Amino acid sequence: MTGVKNRLSAPAKPRDFGFFIDGTWHHGREMYERFSPSHEQSVTRTACCTKQDIDVAVGAARKAFDKGSWAQQSGADRADVLLQTASLLRERTEEIAYWEVLENGKPLTQAKGEIAHAIACFETAAGAARLLHGNTFNNLGRSLFGMVLREPIGVVGLITPWNFPFMILCERLPFILASGCTMVVKPAEVTSATTLLLADILTDAGLPRGVYNVVTGSGSVLGQAMAEHADIDMLSFTGSTKVGRSCIKASAESNLKKLGLELGGKNPIIVFADSNLDDAADAVAFGVSFNTGQCCVSTSRLIVEQSVADEFEHRVSEKMRKIRVGNPFDPETQIGAITTDAQNKTILDYIAKGKSEGAVLLCGGQVVACGKGRYIAPTLFTHVKPDMEIARDEIFGPVLSSFRFETVEQAIDLANDTVYGLAASVWTQDITKAFSVTRRVKAGRFWVNTIMSGGPETPIGGFRQSGWGREAGLAGVEEYTQLKTIHIDTDRRKHWIAS
Ligand code: NAD
Repeated sequence: MTGVKNRLSAPAKPRDFGFFIDGTWHHGREMYERFSPSHEQSVTRTACCTKQDIDVAVGAARKAFDKGSWAQQSGADRADVLLQTASLLRERTEEIAYWEVLENGKPLTQAKGEIAHAIACFETAAGAARLLHGNTFNNLGRSLFGMVLREPIGVVGLITPWNFPFMILCERLPFILASGCTMVVKPAEVTSATTLLLADILTDAGLPRGVYNVVTGSGSVLGQAMAEHADIDMLSFTGSTKVGRSCIKASAESNLKKLGLELGGKNPIIVFADSNLDDAADAVAFGVSFNTGQCCVSTSRLIVEQSVADEFEHRVSEKMRKIRVGNPFDPETQIGAITTDAQNKTILDYIAKGKSEGAVLLCGGQVVACGKGRYIAPTLFTHVKPDMEIARDEIFGPVLSSFRFETVEQAIDLANDTVYGLAASVWTQDITKAFSVTRRVKAGRFWVNTIMSGGPETPIGGFRQSGWGREAGLAGVEEYTQLKTIHIDTDRRKHWIAS
């Protein structure tokens, strides 16, 4: 294992990273210093790239795409590189997890689980690379034949957030590679290390130069430049709805590049009185607290049947109090630090708003002192009114708002009372109720008597203001392709102009 001396503490001095263009490491003139959110000490220094670096990276990706060094390889050859990457990731899991924890603050055990998921993404995409195909039309008449080719879209810009730096990257990148595209990746400034570590792994796995390029630095400068760039054919953006909107504007005002957008959520969990309440309470506590609630699919609204509401909210609060918050290197820890100062302030401000708006604080609401770092206790507000800010805004922290219903219609209306539509969950033993809810609640992903389960085989994405397009699975490869229709006539032409 390279670069890891002691997995149980932060490194004595920060590790420097360059940025990666056309198979070569470059050094930043200015560096961004990242302090671990749980250890409060400098852990990494990454380059503050410039707009000119973006131009060079896009140029390298364009050259690699046009040359066909990747796009024209067979699906089988692309699959070999993806499978080899999966195998190298297995060998380097400890190292990648270590840097992910230091920059993000999540528990080491969780980070390792996310790398296992990333490996599964590479393996799934390898299968997809071999199976990707177009279509034929043999029903156009005796002499006319139709073919639909599926071609890679070209150069993809990939902008990722800080909450799952490696996992979100790997829910997209292998599928982009499977399609035959080349790319320029810009990770969130605070969590760039693992995206950079992947560069050497992909090279060792046999990925040709220029196919994977990484630039690091400011979102408002580099991310914006990518959204505006005339030579990027598609931008895959994962982050806030606000920035997603600015990407749409930038695309409209530049080259009308295709956009894949994975944005915010305000995800409901509906609990009927007939469900196994203990299982459901555990799922609710997990859904809101996992990754300190900093997941796009975090459960943030509990919608519980009136007849069991008091008892159920009590059960959830009991479970939330037992969640082990603290040092991410402690194998017992279930949730770690809040990733950024700004996010910490946002969450604490929403907790203060919830109190001042008149919601009842049933548990949490306070910071947790762990010596160093910033930690917030899982928090449950009951008696939340639909017009309160904690009911409407995406908080992106371990804060749950509880609502009550008496009829299935009310539950569905409450669940749909948001501009978002990313994910939802329903708990009941009654298949009829489960189906009415899943068919009528607007969400891109639905869990019935389960939460945040599933693998890279199935597509990920949102309805409404949660985004456009789908990642992962076959749909996730097709997203990065475009269709070309070809007609072939085997007969002589019937002339339009009389001879
Ligand atoms: P963010 O939108 O501020 O940043 C996301 C990425 O965009 C970062 O790499 C950032 O540097 C970059 N960026 C910033 N300004 C930009 C601009 N003007 N143009 C282009 N790129 C720009 O979001 P965040 O704070 O990193 O993440 C939190 C948000 O992301 C939450 O709202 C959350 O719901 C959302 N999110 C969604 C998903 C999903 O899959 N739907 C996953 C993770 C996070």
